[in-house]
Amino acid sequence: MTVAELDRAAAAGPLLPVDIGHEAYAAVTDPNTAFWALVDKTRIAESTAAGSPLAESFREKADSFARELHALRFALTPSGVYLNPTERCNLNCTYCYLPGQQRSEGQHMSESKLIESLGKLREYFRSVMPEGRQERKPRAIFHGAEPLMNKRAVFAAIEEFGNDFAFGVQTNGTLLDDEAVDFLTSRNVSIGLSLDGPVAGITDATRRTWGGKSVHDKVLTAMDKLKGYGSWSVITTCTTENLPYLTQMVELFHAHEVPTCMLNTLRCTLPGARTVKPADGDMAQAFFAALDRSHELYKQTGRKLLVANFANILLAILAPTARRLMCDISPCGGGRAFFALAADGSLYPCSEFIGLPRFNGGNLLDAGGVETALKSDAFRIVTARNVDQFAPCNDCTIRHFCGSPCPAEAHEMNGGMDKIGAFCEFYKEQVNYALRLIADGKANDYLWDGWDEGTDTTFLMQ
Ligand code: SF4
Ligand code: SF4
Repeated sequence: MTVAELDRAAAAGPLLPVDIGHEAYAAVTDPNTAFWALVDKTRIAESTAAGSPLAESFREKADSFARELHALRFALTPSGVYLNPTERCNLNCTYCYLPGQQRSEGQHMSESKLIESLGKLREYFRSVMPEGRQERKPRAIFHGAEPLMNKRAVFAAIEEFGNDFAFGVQTNGTLLDDEAVDFLTSRNVSIGLSLDGPVAGITDATRRTWGGKSVHDKVLTAMDKLKGYGSWSVITTCTTENLPYLTQMVELFHAHEVPTCMLNTLRCTLPGARTVKPADGDMAQAFFAALDRSHELYKQTGRKLLVANFANILLAILAPTARRLMCDISPCGGGRAFFALAADGSLYPCSEFIGLPRFNGGNLLDAGGVETALKSDAFRIVTARNVDQFAPCNDCTIRHFCGSPCPAEAHEMNGGMDKIGAFCEFYKEQVNYALRLIADGKANDYLWDGWDEGTDTTFLMQ
């Protein structure tokens, strides 16, 4: 849709009511612009009638809402890259998005090739950073398979390019020895770990070595080493195996002073993951119980455990351009806000596609490099996936708070880019839960302190 079309749709459309399950409030929304407001649920018609203060305010602001959303959805240039410095992993997790043969027998990227690749990426990001924003470094996240399997090359790259990129490492934590922790923390590299259970028996159900050994205690040891560091997090991938224990996960993370966690719905891109996919209703129930528990712990101790994937949904509603993650916007961030570099030098829209050769957009070190990949059919099929253009999302009132993730699983699990992903009903419930928190004045308790510094209020009515 063009901006003009969006503007017309916004101006023409009435505000639609949404029952969010709150005792006193309903939401009203204009899905085209992601405008929303909470109104007395017994007075929806009067609150939104033509000429009402709410309808008038919306009419005046609709153009600017449409423009802001359009810019976020269609006018970003990449500001980050996921780097896969090896195909190998020392674990064989049930739901991994990379094929098992790559992880067990695959190749490392050589140190010289990684250095050359980062040089080319630095050149690319310098060419697209907006004027006056050059002081903001692009993000470069070393990612799975297991990046520390190729630690020497990764650390050499961080040493060489520390002034050019904001680095992060997403690791299974099993190779994070004292030396690695010292190296990474002294260079302010953000560190993400993964843990799936509050006790070994639960973690072991989905995350084990190839020989079947538990890694639970090793991850706890890594967490202890990182206590007090400012920039670390832990991901729990929610599956049928750990869903009943999510509340205990939150308790364990809080006790270990984890600053930020993610309780992610698993991506069902490859068949293995679908064997442990929870039902949407079960996911919602366990996830909300875990969020409730994180809030209780915050109230008891004054210390927040941020659940970043949920905080991002709150931000999508409260301040769309302040989002930090790009899965819940359509088109998603893959291939437009960031892209991924595979160990063989190929570029993909997102790491989630690395096991799927048809999404290979060409080699970074070939002549056209990133620019050619961004324009390739392999990338365009992802970046053109637009939630306004396929059912049932095009009719969904929360589509710009959900984004219909994930294109990789929509394509592989449900048969096409014009299909939904794996957790549609859960995403609806998640937005309702977020709106209930906003109605109760609790949203800030679930967000980063200072999240609204530097954001502008474009609509506030009480
Ligand atoms: S929705 Fe999927 S493809 Fe898009 S950024 Fe998220 S994980 Fe990557
Ligand atoms: S996936 Fe479901 S909740 Fe998300 S936009 Fe589509 S219909 Fe709406």
